[in-house]
This record gives sequence, structure tokens and C-alpha cells, in this order.
Amino acid sequence: MKWLTRERAGAMLSDLIARPSVNPMGRLHSSATPVERGVVEYVEGLFAGRDARVTRLPVSDVHENLLIEYPADGSGPAILFESHMDVVPADDWADEAFVPRREGDLLIGRGACDDKGSLTAMILALLDLIEAGERPPRPVLLLCAGDEEYAQTGIKSFCGLPFDIRWGIFGEPTRLEPVVQHKGTLRWDFTVHGRSAHTSRPELGANAILGAIGAVEALSRLQKDLQRRFASPLMTGPLLTVSMIRGGRTRNAVPDECVVSVDFRLLPGMDMQAARSEAMAVIDDACSRTGEDLRATHSDLQLRTPALSTPLDHPFSRQTLEICRTYAGPEVDLRGEPYGTDAAWVADRAAALVLGPGDIRSAHAVGERIDLNEVVTCARIYRAIMTAPPPQLTGPSTALPGGVHPA
Ligand SMILES: [Zn+2]
Repeated sequence: MKWLTRERAGAMLSDLIARPSVNPMGRLHSSATPVERGVVEYVEGLFAGRDARVTRLPVSDVHENLLIEYPADGSGPAILFESHMDVVPADDWADEAFVPRREGDLLIGRGACDDKGSLTAMILALLDLIEAGERPPRPVLLLCAGDEEYAQTGIKSFCGLPFDIRWGIFGEPTRLEPVVQHKGTLRWDFTVHGRSAHTSRPELGANAILGAIGAVEALSRLQKDLQRRFASPLMTGPLLTVSMIRGGRTRNAVPDECVVSVDFRLLPGMDMQAARSEAMAVIDDACSRTGEDLRATHSDLQLRTPALSTPLDHPFSRQTLEICRTYAGPEVDLRGEPYGTDAAWVADRAAALVLGPGDIRSAHAVGERIDLNEVVTCARIYRAIMTAPPPQLTGPSTALPGGVHPA
């Protein structure tokens, strides 16, 4: 397995980190080319002249995807491997975030674990398979996605294309443990409207900031209530976080307006629309209870990402777990996570799992790093999944007796 070495992994991951693909996170993007272009050109070079079809898939002026298709012996539905090419900004790094640095087996740089470590492992696995001349039992698609970090436009645009995908592995730092479930997210702003007045005569006004404080306290009570009503053995309960607040115009006027941003993390199985309606009703009620002339309005959703809830006993979950245990150790288990990923966008058509090298606690942090041994082990796991016999497509979800061993 010529490609599955620490040296190959270190060289490729260093090359990827050195091609900054910083997501502008909704801010103005001044360049004429998508932020992922440097990575796209590099990956195109790796697959040039090989037995795989490589296609650029435009997403927007700012983002693009790259798809690599490796055909199977026969036809049939495909398995999708996806990692994202974009990274979060590194303005808070004192040293060079895009000059990769080695410390023993650790590689340090922006994107090392989120998400270029997973991307490296997927590329190594596929190159190794192609160079060995092995045909997989089902077509393998490798999607190098753009814009995961801000609006997930890369995966959403890919989902609009007519590919028959029934299984998906989404590379994110999970320390080589398959994640079957994660939370969904809703984000919106609410505005409390009051009435301004001179601060020497506050009784003539209606203080929007006081209304917002009442609403924030009510949301905190709602979170406790939701956590009593909804629980998961795999992750923390529903979370309602007030993440931004701004109000008031000048120091000597009763504030007539206060805007509050809400980040709502929901468990799999919760009705997202009903949960949002409940939170909005709690906010509206808190404003009216102040006894002042206050009311709240709500923005449209700025973000809605679905939860992921692949069953623990789905044959694909069981098979992937067995493969991970074979390569990474018997202590590996199926897990849930509180964060969101691109995996949720294909969950309506495919059994999707999140699985990759690295630790999420290092993601988005200064000094982001990854252990190259984990990248190589993950490449072995991905390769074994690519060549494993396809688990059943539909039907009742049942555990496979004795598990399935990697091909
Ligand atoms: Zn990521």
C-alpha cells in the first residue's frame, strides 16, 4: 500500500494547508476565483492521467466543488465520501497559520484537522485503490466540497444533481469513531420594539432592552423545560444560546429597539418548525408580560441545518464500526455529537456517517493540529469501506449477526 504511509500523508496534508482556502464567512470576497480553487487545482493534479473522472462543479462566485468518480465492476448506487476544502479564518493566529509545521508525528496549521486531514485520508485511500487496479463493488464518489463552514452551499448544490447515493461517509474530526447522530441547528434574530423617551421621563417610553432581558430569561427557562422533555443517550439535550445582542441609540434615551440572535440546537427527532414556534411564542409572551408597550418580531431563519439520525443498528453503521475496530482498536464505538455537519443534507437518501481523523477540540482553534498516524489509519479505514460488500439498501433496520469484516 504505497500511498498509505505517514510520509505521503504528511507531504499531501502540508501541500493542502499551504493552499489557503479561507471561507469569507459571508463577508465580501474580492477575488475573481472561488476560495477553494488552489485546493481544487492541486487535487486535480493528483488524479491527472488516472482511471477516474474528475469534474469541477461550480457552486457560486465564491465557492466550488470538485468531484472524483471511480466506477465499480457493475452499475448500481454509489457510496459518497465527502470532506470539505474550505477552512475558517486564522486572524487570531500569531504565527503563520498556512505554513505547516511538524512536531514529531503532529502536523500543525489551519485546516490540519478541520478538514484537510480527512480530505488527505480520502484522497490517499482512493489513489491507493486506483493504483492497485482494484474495482470497488459499488461506484465510489469523492466529493471535495466547498463552503461547509458558513452556509453548506457546496453539499446543498451537489444534492441537486442526479447521483444515486445510498451510503455516505463525511470526513470530520471524530477521532476515528463513527458518528451516527448529531444535532440540527436553527438561527434567527428577534427584535423587541418599544418606544423612546428622555431618560429623565422613562415612564413615557417602553424600554426594549428590559423586554429583551425578560425574553432571554424566558428562553433559559424554556431550555431547561426542553431538556426535561427531550433527551438522548448519545449527546447533550436541546440548547438555546443567545449569541448576540444589541440595543439602544444613545445614553440619554429609553431604547426603542433591541435585537437578539438565537442559536437553537435540536436533537434528532425533534420537530424543528414546532420547536421554533414554541421558542417564538415564549419570546412574544415574555414581552407582553412586562406590562409595557413592547412587542417582538422575528427574522426569517438565517440558518437551518437538519439533524443526523442514522440508526445505531443500521447495517452500514454496524459494518463501519467493525471496520473501525479492526484498524483503530476494539474500544471504538458509535457516537453522537452536538455539532452539525454536511452529512445531514444527504440523510433523506443515504445512510450517512461522520468519520475522520483528529479531535474536534482542535478545530477552529489556534495551533490546530493532527497526528499523521491517525490520518494513515483513517485512510486504511476509508479504503476498507470502499471495498467492503455493500450492506443492504432498504428494509427493516437490523443488526448483522457477528458483524462484517473488511474485504
Ligand atoms: Zn469541518
